[in-house]
Amino acid sequence: MGKGKDTRKYREKLKDPYMDKNSYRDPTICPGCGLIFHQKRWLKDEKIAHRLKDQGVEFNRKDCPACRKIKDNYPLGILEIEAEYVKTKREELKNLITNVTEREEWRNPLERIMKLNFDEKRLYIETTTEHLAKKIGNSVRKAFGGELKITFSDKQKLIRVYLKE
Ligand SMILES: [Zn+2]
Repeated sequence: MGKGKDTRKYREKLKDPYMDKNSYRDPTICPGCGLIFHQKRWLKDEKIAHRLKDQGVEFNRKDCPACRKIKDNYPLGILEIEAEYVKTKREELKNLITNVTEREEWRNPLERIMKLNFDEKRLYIETTTEHLAKKIGNSVRKAFGGELKITFSDKQKLIRVYLKE
């Protein structure tokens, strides 16, 4: 059995500590971002919210996993981009990242950017999920080029994505 396979198996056991579904009662509304926990899922759906309210259902109020990660400063994805285009094509880069993030957030509303810092030729991003950091890194590489390097922590669920020109 290859080493990579073992690592993957091992990593699957690493859990997102904020995703314990038993710690939320149905329905819960996040006072920070308005997401609703209903039928074991987090939804951005005002229709469902209104329907439940019309039925006189009482909402629990508790921060969603994404808002808790942001408050605790606990990213699951870190993406660093070092390239000339960070300086020269900043607006295009920002637009691409916004588009990718909006698309992923629509798919899963718990996918968020927690931090985004521009330096001279360096861009530093923290995300609430591993998936989003990887997705942004891949999309930027496709559009602007560079070499992607991905590493995983073996102690906690955390991905580091480096993109260098
Ligand atoms: Zn929230």
